[in-house]
Amino acid sequence: MELVQEASHRFRIDPHGPMRVPGVVFASRTLLRDAEKSLEQVVNVATLPGIVGASYAMPDIHWGYGFPIGGVAATDVADGGVVSPGGVGFDISCGVRLLTADIDRDGLASALPVVMDGLDRAIPRGAGPGGVWHLTGPGQLERILLGGSRYAVGEGHGEERDLTRCEDGGAVADADVDQVSARARERGLAQVGSLGSANHFLEVQRVDEVYDEQAAAAFGIAVGQVCVMIHCGSRGLGHQICTDHVRLMDRAMARYGIKVPDRQLACTPVDSPEGQRYLGAMAAAANYGRANRQLLSDAARIVFRRATGARLSLVYDVSHNLAKIEPHPVAGARRTLCVHRKGATRAFPPGHPDLPGDLRDVGQPVLIPGTMGTASYVLVGVADGDAFHSTCHGAGRVLSRHRAARAVGGREVRARLESAGIAVRPRSLRGLSEEMPEAYKDVSEVVAASEGAGLCRTVARLVPLGVVKG
Ligand code: 5GP
Ligand code: MN
Ligand code: MN
Repeated sequence: MELVQEASHRFRIDPHGPMRVPGVVFASRTLLRDAEKSLEQVVNVATLPGIVGASYAMPDIHWGYGFPIGGVAATDVADGGVVSPGGVGFDISCGVRLLTADIDRDGLASALPVVMDGLDRAIPRGAGPGGVWHLTGPGQLERILLGGSRYAVGEGHGEERDLTRCEDGGAVADADVDQVSARARERGLAQVGSLGSANHFLEVQRVDEVYDEQAAAAFGIAVGQVCVMIHCGSRGLGHQICTDHVRLMDRAMARYGIKVPDRQLACTPVDSPEGQRYLGAMAAAANYGRANRQLLSDAARIVFRRATGARLSLVYDVSHNLAKIEPHPVAGARRTLCVHRKGATRAFPPGHPDLPGDLRDVGQPVLIPGTMGTASYVLVGVADGDAFHSTCHGAGRVLSRHRAARAVGGREVRARLESAGIAVRPRSLRGLSEEMPEAYKDVSEVVAASEGAGLCRTVARLVPLGVVKG
């Protein structure tokens, strides 16, 4: 793939063949080692009807279903722009939330094992069913799909700030439960308030370094402070919705005269019945994902309060797998776009009207998990961002799960982490080896490249004290 370097962390793939826009890759040369297959996906995405600007790739790009993970693509709704479930991914509204504890590392010291044991018991995880909430029936599931985190907080599982500090105030209004199949509901019913498999986690962390005092103060983050980071999504419900709607769009595409270079890019116009149905179902899964993270926060709060008396306050909750209808300037005119972010995080700049009032002058907190053995980061959106105000979402995989599991056993990963002082509460040893730190790129390099590309600014670095793994 021919990459034209435009700036220190920006490369361009010139349009060729059926590409409608260029590819723009934010990265360093080192991060792009072995990225050939995912760069081909960047090229494929550039062929989608209605795409504007460019097919973007973040520094944590790696191969995904149709679209790369770490990809951003926006289409113009009024100009035949399409929506594609593959541009969101199977784990709809997978995302991260960060809570700060009013306790520091020294205050936690002797209680850490008790906290970790408590979390081990309180946090349901693994591939199967079982969640914090045992639903009374399908009516309650519908209320979750419609009300998201707002419904969970309304039922006593959180506080008002959990809503103001959550993207979309905890729920989107356009969920259409009729587009959620019986099978998707069935899969979602027993899993509300559960982590899922091993890339998902609940981690107790310590703030190791602050780079931007002003933003950190606004976020309520200080060096030495204990935090809790939660990464999970919409479980089997989101997965089934993606499967169902890829199938529907794959059948409908030809009717709209749409040809894609890869069937996994199945899509239809945003304003087609199929497009609207997917977006309604996707919104329901987004609400489910937020409720899921809310219930896990509630469970973690109870454990912290009992073991240490500490309170947990939400810094922010943001998805990294979502398509959103957003206004953006395109060639000087304000257009309504369908922005797909798949393994990419929205990073709104200071002054954006959708930010919570107390963060409006600072910008949106962006939460970047790294690995359970290295570090994670808090970033902030910047005024002159790029890629429709998006940035990276993690370190990004370099080794497939299978290759990672072959490279080292779970027992050894656990021993290494524990000798580094990190408490580990895994669901399975196999999961631990799939998630070994070496399976991912260097998160510090990814974050530096994202900042170097002008997508965000680094606020703080967090290091793990203990990890509860799916
Ligand atoms: P994804 O949403 O693509 O599955 O994962 C997002 C990111 O989470 C990965 O790119 C990786 O950097 C990070 N990650 C996976 N497992 C862990 C973990 O146990 N702890 C932390 N801090 N980050 C993790
Ligand atoms: Mn996920
Ligand atoms: Mn995720």
